[in-house]
Amino acid sequence: MQNPTPHLPTAEQIRRAPKVLLHDHLDGGLRPGTIVDIARATGYDALPETDPDKLGRWFREAADSGSLERYLETFTHTCAVMQTYDALVRVAAECAEDLAADGVVYAEVRYAPEQHLEGGLTLEQVVEAVNEGFREGERRAREGDNRIRVGALLTAMRHAARSQEIAELANRYRDRGVVGFDIAGAEAGYPPTRHLDAFDYLKRENNHFTIHAGEAFGLPSIWQALQWCGADRLGHGVRIIDDITVDDEGVHLGRLASYVRDKRVPLEMCPSSNLQTGAATSYRDHPIGLLRRLHFRVTVNTDNRLMSGTSMSEEFGHLVDAFGYTFDDMQWFTVNAMKSAFIPFDERLAMINEVIKPGYAELKAEWLFASGAAAPPLASDSAAERG
Ligand SMILES: [Zn+2]
Repeated sequence: MQNPTPHLPTAEQIRRAPKVLLHDHLDGGLRPGTIVDIARATGYDALPETDPDKLGRWFREAADSGSLERYLETFTHTCAVMQTYDALVRVAAECAEDLAADGVVYAEVRYAPEQHLEGGLTLEQVVEAVNEGFREGERRAREGDNRIRVGALLTAMRHAARSQEIAELANRYRDRGVVGFDIAGAEAGYPPTRHLDAFDYLKRENNHFTIHAGEAFGLPSIWQALQWCGADRLGHGVRIIDDITVDDEGVHLGRLASYVRDKRVPLEMCPSSNLQTGAATSYRDHPIGLLRRLHFRVTVNTDNRLMSGTSMSEEFGHLVDAFGYTFDDMQWFTVNAMKSAFIPFDERLAMINEVIKPGYAELKAEWLFASGAAAPPLASDSAAERG
């Protein structure tokens, strides 16, 4: 640890702290054992490993390899076992259960319905199966004394041509488990402006959407997502750092970076995933540190838990190690995320006031009453920058 003062949250406290997740892919978070089970049941015989532990390692190594081909292969296998109604229910239920066990109290999990049609399901059946799974997972979590609420984001693939259809699907299932829309896939060569019809449609319907932008690709992608497409949030947005210069005279924000900060555009940052794809070089050098200091609306996310071998607690653990973040910092990120969710304002506010703030107050009180706890520094960076 960089700064092992006694008030840094421990791994166990991080797990118990209420967390909010806005950027997590359903096909990137399966349990390895479930992949093996479903593959066996459905006759899918192309898995590289059939032992769950070995398979889990294979996913992380493939995602770490730096080879786009191997990285994409990981999703071929997960999508291959998500082609029946029952498989989708199971995967979605386990997703909600796993997130709840990790202390996530609210999550928006995304998936591309068009990638789950090979077994003959319709787009509607895919959405209904995933919704059923999320409700089942929420119920199981409650039984285990965890509470979570999960909303779905429907993703359209940016290289494909179904974005209008998927946007209409998201609108049809609005208030029935689906809270918004997203586009994902390779940025290079597929600008978000290819999907303007879908975004215009969603705006006319007063619906919400986020766009994967500024991960591999730079500022033009972020600019298009915001100023041409009208995205409510940015998936990653990490390259906004290219519009910020730090020199002896201080920090200078370009027009786009200023716009993103001043308009409070939520950035769905996924540190571990960025390290794997090369969008950042280390946790300590990840732009999230500077962006947090500059008061951008930053949130912490997992992206693909299976491929990155991560969880919300792991992500926060890395940030605590790299930046010495405290409970106040964790709460700040969590409130940022809850404010940026796509559910109604009164429900977001209730989550913040009834769940998130009391959760952190309890953890901080535990620390205060712990024997031998040393006083936190009076004017720590994080305390000075709260808000
Ligand atoms: Zn993503």
